Amino acid sequence: MKLTWEVWISVLKVEGLHTYYGNIHALKGISLEVKEGEIVSLVGSNGAGKSTLLSTVTGIAKAGSGTVRFQGADITNTAPHNITKTGISISPEGREVFPGLTVEENLFMGKEIKNRFGFCNQKAMRQKASEALGRLGVRIDPGEVMSNLSVGQQQMIEICKALMVDAKVIIMDEPTAALTQSETVVLFEVIKSLRKSGVSIVYISHRMEEIFELCDRISVLRDGTYVGTKHIPETNMNEIVKLMIGREIGERYPERDCKIGETVLKVSGLTKKGVFQDVEFEVKAGEVLGVSGLMGAGRTEIMQAIFGNLPYESGKIEINGKEVQIKSPIQAMRNGIGFITEDRKVEGLMLEESIEKNATCYSAGQVKYTCRGCKDTYYV
Ligand code: ATP
Repeated sequence: MKLTWEVWISVLKVEGLHTYYGNIHALKGISLEVKEGEIVSLVGSNGAGKSTLLSTVTGIAKAGSGTVRFQGADITNTAPHNITKTGISISPEGREVFPGLTVEENLFMGKEIKNRFGFCNQKAMRQKASEALGRLGVRIDPGEVMSNLSVGQQQMIEICKALMVDAKVIIMDEPTAALTQSETVVLFEVIKSLRKSGVSIVYISHRMEEIFELCDRISVLRDGTYVGTKHIPETNMNEIVKLMIGREIGERYPERDCKIGETVLKVSGLTKKGVFQDVEFEVKAGEVLGVSGLMGAGRTEIMQAIFGNLPYESGKIEINGKEVQIKSPIQAMRNGIGFITEDRKVEGLMLEESIEKNATCYSAGQVKYTCRGCKDTYYV
């Protein structure tokens, strides 16, 4: 007999949740219900409150009022390490890894397998790590240092970590953001088999196609409020987008009215043996050029080379019809090229510095900067 949704067992139930960050009222009476063995998608525009809801459910942010129930028990404002013990696991949006430690050390951080003398049982941990990675279909050596992995591989390790604690509910925040198409396919298979075994998934994504392929229900948030929940077979993308933004959407792909000008960047014969070969393209003023390919295809390396961060062996780069020699990022910036990195936390931002310094340091040599600590003034 097939159960109807109404009689399905509820595992996670959030009611009337309010969360504040100082004066910011981030969640305004949110409700969410997740049943056993279902995949619920949580959607909303940027700032709608999705991450805050997850942080509040997992005890990272404090609930001002309202309740969070797990299998009937009130777990509101339970500390994060105790939340994991209850059976809720989270795979966060950003990668929260220890880059200098190995894959298995990251996987077992805080939950190491110990032998009877209280020491880490490396052999058991390696075996369990290999099994978990094998289940995700990823070929990564558990002894590899985290910083040697690509962004996508590190994201897979985060997901693996969430899978390893026998969780009843797994919350996945933008899990496919850094994954390739083939990694996404494997992840979907894993998620579907988890659903079959009764595990529930809360799936956050901005990618509608993925949500409609994978999920059973979809809950919508807007400006910190709960808008509603729809069963996937009974709704469509237009309706969900309308709920998210609160009005009818016009054309999804409206005709563009920007003027396309002359070629501003032309790359020809760009080669770095074994990495990329004979790369050729040009970009005109006002154009957006997409560069696609599987992970390892060399997309990032080509852009790094154009930006002067990776030496290339042959080829030509022209800006506004004039050949330029770019040997460093400073030269690239002087030629009017900017670069937003793939791994913003590590390569793109100075997290310990002020927003002021982060926002202005690209203007190489033009910004007077006074260190708040030592009061020295210098130009960046
Ligand atoms: P995104 O899709 O961009 O991740 P979101 O739906 O997850 O957005 P939240 O990050 O939960 O939204 O943000 C909800 C509101 O709370 C926003 O107004 C945001 O600016 C605010 N907010 C989030 N985190 C903090 C914080 N640490 N301190 C202060 N305000 C915050």
